[in-house]
Amino acid sequence: MKYLVDYHVHTDNSFDGKVSMAEQCEKAIEIGLKEIVFTEHYDLNPNDKSKGFFNYEKYSREIEECRQKYGDKLIIKKGLELGEPHLYTAEHDAFIKDRDFDFLLGSVHFLGDILLDADFGLPEKELYLKYFSEILELAKTGEFHTLGHIDVLKRYVPPHFKKFLAINYEEIIREILTTTIKRGKGIEINTSGFRQGLGEPLPAVEILEWFYELGGEVITIGSDAHHSKDLGQDLERGINVLRDVGFKAISTFSQGKINFIDI
Ligand SMILES: [Zn+2]
Ligand SMILES: [Zn+2]
Repeated sequence: MKYLVDYHVHTDNSFDGKVSMAEQCEKAIEIGLKEIVFTEHYDLNPNDKSKGFFNYEKYSREIEECRQKYGDKLIIKKGLELGEPHLYTAEHDAFIKDRDFDFLLGSVHFLGDILLDADFGLPEKELYLKYFSEILELAKTGEFHTLGHIDVLKRYVPPHFKKFLAINYEEIIREILTTTIKRGKGIEINTSGFRQGLGEPLPAVEILEWFYELGGEVITIGSDAHHSKDLGQDLERGINVLRDVGFKAISTFSQGKINFIDI
């Protein structure tokens, strides 16, 4: 694929980002990306270290500087990764309004006041169902263009849990996908699963197949890079997975307006 894009990228504008925006842009050009979206964390959960970290003015200034410096080689877009946006709809709406974001990812990183990587002390099935119920609420009422890493819990579960099998949660996952499609929204394929040893993207291929079968068309692709070495990693592999499932295009966004790129 000639037109490679990365729709899930962090910089040091995110509390856990390890790289400057300029460095990410340089790396993007080096590896041949055509378009990049800086989807920085924006979180409101009081227990989240990320809360209050994102500085829109600094971020926007850097976007402008990078567009001036690299804009002839790379399309640079403004985005956010909203944490649990269904729980903070009014606050998120107020923040996003009048700010010129191109693209919004909606993600779940917390269950209640607890970060996903904690030990919840719950049996496997119960924990996954609790997590997917939260994603379902996000799909129903949250603000986003695509749902971030739908099955990310599989990355954080205790080692004694079995390998994540989407089929065990098919009913609720299909409900998440149907709800998302009905709202005219989509999902992302997050390629970080490959480099983090999961051996599959997020979400798992079965979930992508259900999304396709249900008529889902809006799908963005991203590496979820917090370091420049991870930028754009496995995007081609992710595209191949999508092609194998049957998808003909991926989505890009400008000021919230969708566009499709053939794959
Ligand atoms: Zn995330
Ligand atoms: Zn992220």
